[in-house]
Amino acid sequence: MVSDNLKIVEENIQKACDRAGRDRSEVTLIAVSKTKPVDMLMEAYNDGIRTFGENKVQELTGKIEEMPDDISWHMIGHLQRNKVKYIAGKVALIHSVDSYRLAEEINVQAKKHGTVIPILIEVNVAQEDTKFGVKLEETEDLVRECAALDGISIKGLMTIAPFVENPEDNRPVFKALKDKSVDIASKNIDNVTMDILSMGMTNDYQIAIEEGATMVRVGTGIFGARNYNI
Ligand SMILES: *Cc1c(COP(=O)(O)O)cnc(C)c1O
Repeated sequence: MVSDNLKIVEENIQKACDRAGRDRSEVTLIAVSKTKPVDMLMEAYNDGIRTFGENKVQELTGKIEEMPDDISWHMIGHLQRNKVKYIAGKVALIHSVDSYRLAEEINVQAKKHGTVIPILIEVNVAQEDTKFGVKLEETEDLVRECAALDGISIKGLMTIAPFVENPEDNRPVFKALKDKSVDIASKNIDNVTMDILSMGMTNDYQIAIEEGATMVRVGTGIFGARNYNI
């Protein structure tokens, strides 16, 4: 099942790239495997997937131990400061930095590991109360503050768009994040690139790619619906 799903997702990514005149190599597919068992992750792995996203620290570290070494793990969920120490040195990218206090703690843990941790700033573009992330207007200020921390490296922006029936409705959200990243990139801030735009999930990744996403985070579309009641 995972294989068939991956074929469909891959076709959709290619089509969206074609529509936008983009090269497929510009878009990284992150397989969001939260709540799913390791044997399903291994199906995706055996189909060539090497980038996985998780949103809970304990689940993430457990799966890192059980899965092969050549995987790039992405922390995509809300991160508490007291848990940063468990993932420092183990993740390729933290997508969900939305406060200076969190960035500071990542900085401290990065230094303990003698490494620099790549991060994205999470933006709550649609200003939903239920979502984490900074406001669009506050994004540049947070980027500038975090840029002074040399144990982290700011690689771009991330957003979780609202759940909508018609994915077209999220196009303005993706456009707004893209505009913000272009704007910040033009300021040439030290220790900041805007190379990564992490946006688009199962429901809307094709639209996100059309609007410039360089990373799409697809869970349900690859692994099927999640059951949180087990
Ligand atoms: C769960 C999750 C996803 C994947 O959602 P799907 O709709 O299942 O594709 C993407 N991004 C984040 C931050 C998530 O928590």
